Amino acid sequence: MRLVFLGAPGSGKGTQAALLVKDFDLGYVSTGDVFRQAISDKTALGQQAKEYLDAGLLVPDEVVLGMIDQVLDSLLAKKGFILDGFPRTILQAEKLEAILAAKNQPLGSVISLDVPEDVLTQRMLHRKRADDTEETIKIRLATFHKQTEPLKAFYQKKGLLRSIDASKPVEEVFRTLVAILGQTARV
Ligand code: AMP
Repeated sequence: MRLVFLGAPGSGKGTQAALLVKDFDLGYVSTGDVFRQAISDKTALGQQAKEYLDAGLLVPDEVVLGMIDQVLDSLLAKKGFILDGFPRTILQAEKLEAILAAKNQPLGSVISLDVPEDVLTQRMLHRKRADDTEETIKIRLATFHKQTEPLKAFYQKKGLLRSIDASKPVEEVFRTLVAILGQTARV
């Protein structure tokens, strides 16, 4: 099972991924967590990423792609994995495709967690993370629409996209997710 979770900030990618990882013993990475950890550890990567996270903008592709090989290497050793927050741009998606093709481990499904904007905003305001202020939330949602949402069409064309109504309660979304993965021949 090699999956990408696609969704706006607050769509529940991390929550659903954690449940799936537990049930199916998968590898998992959240690039947002990688950046937050790097910032708190004050590494060179953290210094490069901080201003973008603070502003609610995407970290530049060259910085993300500079660290992703290493992250993917450890995941590819597992029997399956979930990528949460990567790819977020078409360039990143193309790079991912090339890396996975070279390893003969193509993606099985891309799960889009769809949630209306007003619900997303309320969820983010409640979790009170440093990059979840009202101003950055607006910017992060706009960034998602502009740079990441086009990935839906990208993966749709490849026949990989599965969309879920993720505005429902956590357990219900998870049941739908498991059902969808069960129906998918190539997960
Ligand atoms: P997240 O926790 O996934 O919402 O990510 C938090 C922040 O990390 C984002 O707002 C971006 O600034 C940065 N980030 C995470 N993943 C990526 C990525 N694949 N490309 C660019 N920026 C990213």
